[in-house]
Amino acid sequence: MANTINNPHTSIIGAGIGGLSAAIALQQLGQKVSVFERASKLKEMGAGIVLSANAIKTLEKLGVADQVRQAGSPVKKAEIRTPDGQVLVNMPVHKQAERYGTYSYLIYRPDLQRILSEKLEPNTIVLNKKFLRLEQDGVKATSFFEDGESIESELLIGADGVHSQVRQNIVEKSRLSYSGFTAFRGITHYEDPRFPVELGGGFEAWGNGKRFGFSQLGKGRVFWFASINAPQGTFPTAKNKKHIALQHFKSWWGPIADVIDSTSEENTLVHEIFDREPIKKWHKGRVTLLGDAAHPMLPNLGQGGAQAMEDALILSRCLKQFPWSLESALSHYEQERVPRVTKIVQGSRMMARMMQLENPAAMEVRNQLLRKVPDVLKIKRLDWILGYEA
Ligand SMILES: Cc1cc2nc3c(=O)[nH]c(=O)nc-3n(C[C@H](O)[C@H](O)[C@H](O)COP(=O)(O)OP(=O)(O)OC[C@H]3O[C@@H](n4cnc5c(N)ncnc54)[C@H](O)[C@@H]3O)c2cc1C
Repeated sequence: MANTINNPHTSIIGAGIGGLSAAIALQQLGQKVSVFERASKLKEMGAGIVLSANAIKTLEKLGVADQVRQAGSPVKKAEIRTPDGQVLVNMPVHKQAERYGTYSYLIYRPDLQRILSEKLEPNTIVLNKKFLRLEQDGVKATSFFEDGESIESELLIGADGVHSQVRQNIVEKSRLSYSGFTAFRGITHYEDPRFPVELGGGFEAWGNGKRFGFSQLGKGRVFWFASINAPQGTFPTAKNKKHIALQHFKSWWGPIADVIDSTSEENTLVHEIFDREPIKKWHKGRVTLLGDAAHPMLPNLGQGGAQAMEDALILSRCLKQFPWSLESALSHYEQERVPRVTKIVQGSRMMARMMQLENPAAMEVRNQLLRKVPDVLKIKRLDWILGYEA
């Protein structure tokens, strides 16, 4: 073990989607890298995650897109409905797939994490390693861990998620901002002839301050989420999560209550949803950030994971481009990434406001408009996100 963690060129804190992607990209450059993860094993439980076309393109460059397509389920149906089941929007998923050369895929998160980790050289990931703080000078960054060990590296990347400890060490403190809603998520075995497994995808239903999503996850499983407007602190410690979700959606259209009811309590997750005000500088000296550590965003454009992967690829490319100056590499990384992710953080907030509306008159106007949007506009509106290639 001591061998693996002895002075890697790059230390990455966090073995989430962003940290693992960065490790792959850096190993592709031939760099020595270690990933330090506080958990005792990589997640075995989790939710589904949508990998949009830009995420799949990034995964292609990381050399794992085929495995992801195999383990996931292509999104060949994506509707928005009212709570009583009327269709408001049918997303032109086939036209989008033609345009971008790939469908979006829904994948079980632990499968994605496994695929990414299997791409790494043996012993890259060090588990049970909780980062506490850092020190740095002109030649090295030293990470200090809870077990008393410290590790030196030339570059330190904080990929430790929305509550990032690394971030706290290098940028001014900023408060997490509560979105106003809490997300329940579940995975269950469920069949519905209206949403056949072979087709993949599913629907969302938008109601009064509440939203429900249903999507095929492959292997006979369905992933669902329910977001509910509520003051902070209302749900996160609830023991009966499934029952709460059921109470909120019991009068909604056909499969919604059924799919919640078929889920076990252990397979139901609840999380309050936060983001932060975007910042312009993510690095200090030889320490930088990526993914949620740099730019946590609301999940309403389904882009948090995708942006973490894009960060990873662009960061490795900047390190390759400026091998003589870490400062130039890290500055160029920010110049390329900050404008795009800032726009996506802000776009996600705008989508959240529209999706979680409570005022009936405003909802009616929104629904009328949604019914009229032509396919060409639906595609154009998201083109800058989905059509991007890192
Ligand atoms: C409800 C919901 C739905 C979402 N849906 C989508 C979607 O459909 N598509 C999409 O692209 N994105 C989605 N996202 C966003 C996505 O989940 C995140 O943006 C993504 O997981 C960020 O990856 P990351 O690697 O930056 O952070 P994380 O996935 O949070 O990983 C951070 C890792 O760091 C570890 N860590 C933390 N602190 C320490 C420490 N001190 N020391 C060592 N290790 C540490 C953690 O254990 C974890 O393994 C969703 C988010 C939510 C909340």
